[in-house]
Amino acid sequence: MGLQVHPDIRSLSPYVPGKPVEELQRELGLTRVIKLASNENPLGPSPKAIAALSGVQATLHRYPDGGAIQLRQAIADRWKVDSDQVILGNGSDEILGLLAKTFLTPGDEAIMADHTFVIYKMEVTAVHGKPIVVPLVNWTHDLESMARAITPRTRLLFLCNPNNPTGTMVSAEAVDRLMAGVPEDVIVVFDEAYFEYVRSPQFPDAMAYVKQGRNAIVLRTFSKIYGLAGLRIGYGISTSEIIGFLNRVRPPFNANSVAQKAALGALEDDDHVAKSRAVNATGMEQLGQGLRALGMTPISSETNFLYFDAKRDGRSVFDALLREGIIVRHIEGTMIRVTIGQSDENTAFLQALKKVLDGAR
Ligand SMILES: *Cc1c(COP(=O)(O)O)cnc(C)c1O
Repeated sequence: MGLQVHPDIRSLSPYVPGKPVEELQRELGLTRVIKLASNENPLGPSPKAIAALSGVQATLHRYPDGGAIQLRQAIADRWKVDSDQVILGNGSDEILGLLAKTFLTPGDEAIMADHTFVIYKMEVTAVHGKPIVVPLVNWTHDLESMARAITPRTRLLFLCNPNNPTGTMVSAEAVDRLMAGVPEDVIVVFDEAYFEYVRSPQFPDAMAYVKQGRNAIVLRTFSKIYGLAGLRIGYGISTSEIIGFLNRVRPPFNANSVAQKAALGALEDDDHVAKSRAVNATGMEQLGQGLRALGMTPISSETNFLYFDAKRDGRSVFDALLREGIIVRHIEGTMIRVTIGQSDENTAFLQALKKVLDGAR
């Protein structure tokens, strides 16, 4: 009562995360629950990350290394940039917030797709920036329309590539054309959370723009293929100038010590990445075929999830799947996003979906 809250903040809705397994087990008294809702790695964390955590308990009384010297250096070595071009975040989500706080003043514009990662709009609105929303075409970012949306007030342009929730990507050629026309005072944010899953040879090398000194930032995360979503750690690579400004706003101990250690282990774990990619490719085939057999047409995906039109109220499909012990994501209308799991999980999902769709007829 009597709270003075800015209309921009009132306009926001809290982020709705994927339902946790334990909660569903408790609610419905289910023993087996399969979560295919948050694009987590079904194989679990990188074993090298787990090994790197040995002995970490005894050091929990210490603050993390606020500069994260070792991890930033390892990331810099991997991508052949300087360590002052690397910033860590409490998940790459946090870096999205830092970008908004650092580069937007009230009324400044940030361009994004209409059907993309919801955090962009949230972070932009929270600092009283203005989200400029550009419709996808064929479920894919329309870079020409996004370029046309740039005005003198534009400061950020978010490019989720591949896109969540649709799984589509924009090609190197399309990004090249975009970058040729973007003014210097607009930072292009390449959110590449699913980078390690991409198979298309047409995927752009966004890091190259950073290396050319363009005002761009590439965001990556340890939450997806590396299997460390619970630890909250992601990173950004940009020019040392942009990273320098972000560091003025960054909370000093935002990357915790456990996450830093695990990420160092995970970064070296090329085997886990290769295995995860292989399991994902097989699972994508299995789920794609299974969905098509049920009359659904999943959108072609470069990620570890599939997006499809359930052709009936998505919320009721989601709820009915929950009762079968399967957690997916209802995005909007009739659209459902399902994370590619291990083979038995995919089978269980397809069986449950068949039952749900048969029941709805
Ligand atoms: C999962 C995801 C992220 C990363 O999340 P963090 O766990 O905060 O690193 C960022 N962008 C997109 C599009 C995602 O799907």
